[in-house]
Amino acid sequence: MQVSSAISGMKESATLAVSAKAAALKAKGVDVVGFGVGEPDFDTPEPIKRAAIRALEAGQTKYAPTPGDRAAREAIAHKHRTDNGIDCSFEHVTITAGAKHAIYLALQVLIERGAGNEVIVPTPAWVSYRPLVELAGARCIEVPARLEHGLVVEPGAIERAITPRTVGIILNSPSNPCGITLPAASMRAIADVLARHPQVTVISDEIYEKLVYPEVTPGIAHWSIGSDPRLAGRTITVNGMSKAYAMTGWRIGWMCAPGDRGGFAREAIKLQGQMTNSIASFALPAIVEALTNGAAEVERMRAVFARRAQLIGRLQASIPGLVAPPSSGAFYTFPSVASLLGGRTAGGRVLDSAQAFAEALLEEHAVAIVPGEDFGECARAHVRFSFACSEEQIIKGMERVAAFVAGIRQEIPTVTGTG
Ligand code: PLP
Repeated sequence: MQVSSAISGMKESATLAVSAKAAALKAKGVDVVGFGVGEPDFDTPEPIKRAAIRALEAGQTKYAPTPGDRAAREAIAHKHRTDNGIDCSFEHVTITAGAKHAIYLALQVLIERGAGNEVIVPTPAWVSYRPLVELAGARCIEVPARLEHGLVVEPGAIERAITPRTVGIILNSPSNPCGITLPAASMRAIADVLARHPQVTVISDEIYEKLVYPEVTPGIAHWSIGSDPRLAGRTITVNGMSKAYAMTGWRIGWMCAPGDRGGFAREAIKLQGQMTNSIASFALPAIVEALTNGAAEVERMRAVFARRAQLIGRLQASIPGLVAPPSSGAFYTFPSVASLLGGRTAGGRVLDSAQAFAEALLEEHAVAIVPGEDFGECARAHVRFSFACSEEQIIKGMERVAAFVAGIRQEIPTVTGTG
């Protein structure tokens, strides 16, 4: 059977591959500590579940309008106006099967295939951006952030990467995998750069917006670039229920695109109408419930994540060879292990890459993490820990990591390139 080169050449998600390996070990009865997955370990808050159950029982089981019903779109637009300062109405919102689908739609609508378009992605960046940019027919231009700068991308580096072919940039704060929230001053400096380049559309992936930790980095706060009047007309803000409301399996995301009087959003809805139509119709009232009454539950979960961020930060800092900025957002820490690469583990494995580091840690100490390679060129010597697990698990897992690292013997020249 024929398979297009666009799909056969596409990489499988590295995060899913590690989860599969860890799951296989668990199934064999191995006590695996899982730092691999990117989803909250909490259950969806009860009132949100009840809203969907009530809708099901009331027979809300038929097709809904492609972008979602008016009530859910109104609730999302209201959230963006009040939380984020984005001037928008319900017509600018389409509700999608997860934030990932919103990013897919945005890139498909934006990119002109075969025209040499470029999309800038500051890295380390979420694994799906590059495949989605390339699938839509553009080149993905990585702009590496430096570890010495706390993995905060430099605005000047973004400006230097912009060419007449640049049609878009994908920003993501708080960041997966970096686990940092971009300081407002850095975000505003990026906005100053982008304001000078009117051909660049901004896709702002704000899926971790509610998971920001001033307890770790005092004063840190989320700022939506779509609220900048200079960029409001060309920013697509992507968000959803998955992370903040512990609703990954519900598959609810959205885009908010007020530009061109909703013209971009209408094109995205046209494409969505040929793909998936609406999300499951009985999930729509759950969005209204979450956005109207869910703030206390979100804050409860955020406070737990903040404590875990502090805990894993302390434990990690005590392990020589793991170097990361403090986790001020999302639920990740993304240390460089560059100084450990080139060594040999107690089990005799040669650590010639982050992938080898992650595999050896899983096989020798039953700790699942994600190797950095797929998060960008500059991330090749990094590994990602997700702390969406209990404090007990974090302590147990980091003890194992410490033992693993203590057993590494340097034998061959160190691999460089920490980003
Ligand atoms: N954007 C980022 C940065 C993510 O980390 C993820 C999920 O891991 C998504 C988008 C996708 O979110 P969803 O599960 O709502 O599709």
